[in-house]
Amino acid sequence: MMLPLLEMTYKELADAFTEQYKKGPALAKALYGEFFKNLNPKAWQAEEIQASPGLADRLREDLSFSPGKIVDEIHQDGLTKFVTELADGVRIESVILPLKTHQTVCISSQVGCRMGCRFCETGKLGLARNLTVEEIIGQVYTARRRYGRSIRNVVFMGMGEPFDNFENVIQAVRVMSDQRGLNIAQRHITLSTAGRIDGIEKLAALNIPNLNLTVSLNAPNDDLRGRLMPIHNTVSMVRLQQALRAYPLKKGNWLSIVYVLIPDVNNGPEHARQLADWLQPLRAKVNLIPFNPGKNAPFRAPHETEIDSFRRQLIARQIQVQKRAPRGRDLMAACGQLGSGIRQQGLN
Ligand code: SF4
Repeated sequence: MMLPLLEMTYKELADAFTEQYKKGPALAKALYGEFFKNLNPKAWQAEEIQASPGLADRLREDLSFSPGKIVDEIHQDGLTKFVTELADGVRIESVILPLKTHQTVCISSQVGCRMGCRFCETGKLGLARNLTVEEIIGQVYTARRRYGRSIRNVVFMGMGEPFDNFENVIQAVRVMSDQRGLNIAQRHITLSTAGRIDGIEKLAALNIPNLNLTVSLNAPNDDLRGRLMPIHNTVSMVRLQQALRAYPLKKGNWLSIVYVLIPDVNNGPEHARQLADWLQPLRAKVNLIPFNPGKNAPFRAPHETEIDSFRRQLIARQIQVQKRAPRGRDLMAACGQLGSGIRQQGLN
């Protein structure tokens, strides 16, 4: 049986090791550590494995490793966008965001996205397919190998709706947070959804208390949200609010609500008032993101005064607001813009 290490928690590998090689957990631990801690894809080279007669040869045959290959990389304004070509030739994008003490990697969960949000470049691609666990973890693994071990935060805000690929995303969270492997703390992992209520409820039922949940909201009422985000036509602001109220937030944790500010569309005083009212029963912070126009964008970017005005209106209603600077606008690696480079070249 092949062993795709990028898809496996330590426990799963240890079980397979016992079953397949009749070896104890010490050798599984050595293999897992060599692969994930030392970032060596040829993990059979670990000393302990080499010392076990015949084992290295079997593992050389059995370990599978195909995270894809980086085919393009653009650095700008401190950000790095890298494009990975997968085994079937399709391409995905990921972004490294350096912070003061560490780096965050923003990863994709699908090739394209079927949600069709009007302000999003990825949405224009449509959906090609879900990523496998190996392809999701592969982005983090490759990023650590290439850009350094200080990558300690992972956000699922690249291409795709994570809850459309629920099982693979959750297994990827388990693998990347395994302390014997990549050891990315669950409190440093964020899942971002366009508002799939069934996904929010499934995640709530799993009760992974430290995982961060972000909802990309972008509009404060059913009519406008339905026009900006077609997924909303199957839900409602009331149902979404109910699902978030029921979400088991750990003490001290907050939901994050992304609001892409689009001038003359969702930045009026009535929008600020409706948004504040909708947020009232939730323990949530608003992450205000200025719209980043791609090529042929249907909207323009907001001016600083428009952003500040909207922010002040929310703060006046006791809403906590963070404003994210649109770093990487030129790189097309800012929020909602992954996939633009791929679109220009065709999906693959
Ligand atoms: S904003 Fe997110 S959910 Fe909407 S189309 Fe883009 S990637 Fe998909």
